[in-house]
Amino acid sequence: MNGPIGASAAGPAELLAVWETGLAQHPSDRSMLLHRAARPGAGTDELLSVPVGQREADLLALRRALFGERMQVRVECGACGEEMEFDLDTRVLGAGAELPREPLRVTEGEWVVEFRLPTVADLTAAATASDPAQARGLLVRACTVRALRHGEPVGADALPGLLPERVERRIAEAAAEADPTADVRLTVACPECGDATPAELDITSYLWTELDTWARDLMLDVHLLATAYGWSEPEILALSPLRRRYYLELCADV
Ligand SMILES: [Zn+2]
Repeated sequence: MNGPIGASAAGPAELLAVWETGLAQHPSDRSMLLHRAARPGAGTDELLSVPVGQREADLLALRRALFGERMQVRVECGACGEEMEFDLDTRVLGAGAELPREPLRVTEGEWVVEFRLPTVADLTAAATASDPAQARGLLVRACTVRALRHGEPVGADALPGLLPERVERRIAEAAAEADPTADVRLTVACPECGDATPAELDITSYLWTELDTWARDLMLDVHLLATAYGWSEPEILALSPLRRRYYLELCADV
């Protein structure tokens, strides 16, 4: 059950429109939709060019504004199958992670590679890869600012055949460390068997599920109030959540 929708830039009518658009979209396109709602006024290029962790932090901020600070997370224990449910404080996620402005650097064997953090556009391009290793290769090439082998510059086009997998892996690790919000992973200890289950928090799908429930609840409210009072949808959406609740209670009492 959702809590009351809090103060945010977008009102219920705008959010309902966001939800309606998202219904028709593939889940992978909803990150962009929700990011746009989180940063109204930002252009598509701007949204595509932010580091992935920045987008996730923006989505968490939107989620906090809409549904509050606590997130209920459900994880199934990987060892015994026990259903675990716990509260997550979103303030500890994506807060204070200062993203590096300078390129990062990895030195491995004869290689020195300077690279920037993957952006949303890089990640979208890498999502077309057929396997994780290929995706990593695409990301590394897109994000490489400068590569030296034995001190000699190597062009980005030449990297695919030359850059060893272990260097690619080091780069991916260094990027993940510098931008921890890009991929929020939790480790949950099972109260039944004690096993630790790694869990990934997909903020887009989490927020979408909440928005979906909220939108359907809201439309039910609109239906009940429109039936009882003859008000229009815009009139009902303009009511504060508190007033809506009171009127609904009055309808139920009759
Ligand atoms: Zn367990």
